[in-house]
Amino acid sequence: MTNSDLVAIAAEFGNPVYVYDSEKIAAQYQRLTAAFSNVGDLRINYAAKALSNVSILKLLRQLGSGLDTVSIQEVQLGLAAGFKPQSIIYTPNGVSLKEIESVAQMGVQINIDNLSLLEQFGTRHPKTPVCIRINPHVMAGGNSNISVGHIDSKFGISIHQIPHLLRIVENTAMNINGIHMHTGSDILDIDVFLHAAEILFDTAKHFKALEFLDFGSGFKVPYHENDIETNIEELGEKLSKRFVAFCKEYGNELQLIFEPGKFLVSQAGHFVTQVNVVKQTTSTVFAQVDSGFNHLIRPMLYGSHHHIENLSNPKGKERFYSVVGYICETDTFGSNRKIAEITEGDLLVFRNSGAYCFSMASNYNSRYRPAEVLWHEGKAHLIRKRETFEDILHNQVEIAFSEVSEP
Ligand SMILES: *Cc1c(COP(=O)(O)O)cnc(C)c1O
Repeated sequence: MTNSDLVAIAAEFGNPVYVYDSEKIAAQYQRLTAAFSNVGDLRINYAAKALSNVSILKLLRQLGSGLDTVSIQEVQLGLAAGFKPQSIIYTPNGVSLKEIESVAQMGVQINIDNLSLLEQFGTRHPKTPVCIRINPHVMAGGNSNISVGHIDSKFGISIHQIPHLLRIVENTAMNINGIHMHTGSDILDIDVFLHAAEILFDTAKHFKALEFLDFGSGFKVPYHENDIETNIEELGEKLSKRFVAFCKEYGNELQLIFEPGKFLVSQAGHFVTQVNVVKQTTSTVFAQVDSGFNHLIRPMLYGSHHHIENLSNPKGKERFYSVVGYICETDTFGSNRKIAEITEGDLLVFRNSGAYCFSMASNYNSRYRPAEVLWHEGKAHLIRKRETFEDILHNQVEIAFSEVSEP
């Protein structure tokens, strides 16, 4: 998919518009499976929350992926996309026992991350296989908002609570078939990941009937030129070797699971917006696009970097801009960015817009959420219509106040 394809898509479907390249998603999927080709039983469960459009889920299913879900609605989306219940794992945090029971009843693998619900679920359904999510207390990422394995994290059962956990499992005679960890986004250091893996192996030894070990995700993808990224090939080589050795020691061949979101879809996404206003102030030149953090919140929420290019004037002289949005709130996409000279009406593209972009979009300022387009086998397919005013009013209930005549 080229930049001129993006321009043509914006002309056909309007802007702002999210565009996803199926070829890139497939390439990332294959890169990951190739890196772990020495593992006999490997499973990739795509993390639906990164980009949950049902056509994207179908594409991942076609590639051979399973699904990682965090809510009963994501499970339902997965089923709607044709995933079998047994190809779905449900890894919620802080949900009700009732929701977990409903998902278990659908035949989906459940993953429990706290002792309270583990005990309640185990008491009521001792026969249902359950995976447990542990917190190995390692810092795998840089930003504390997106690192979920450290000591203050709300995720997982602390490894310091293993004795209590074992007592619950023994008392309820429940069936633990998997151990899971997800140390959060952005694995920068493979040795840190391998260290966490050792903790998972140590935990696994306590359970006799395991079927799989789930190492979660957190693979880092590059957001700009020369950005660091997880060396998947190196991780594959080192972890595969260790995993195979562990299975020997354990006495059974286990399945190795990963559940990447960002790694599979981030780079496949391109968000195309149009410049409404170029505004020169005393300190900077603002380019204001027809979008805001209502459509792409990552820069404001996490300080994430999305590379920005001018699609309409790619060869123009580069100048410095602050690219901001149109909502009534500070919504900076990028400060002091070198971009080919911008004129009002130009199309700007934000790269790495596949993961946690549309799926975090809102109607703030009563704006419509953008359309989504999948570029597949050389053709653009609309996979979500742009919203309309009916969508804004949908579900709102008007009260019939008695009319007061205006003064
Ligand atoms: C969000 C999430 C993932 C995916 O994380 P990425 O950084 O997008 O790869 C995997 N597993 C669980 C349990 C998650 O909550």
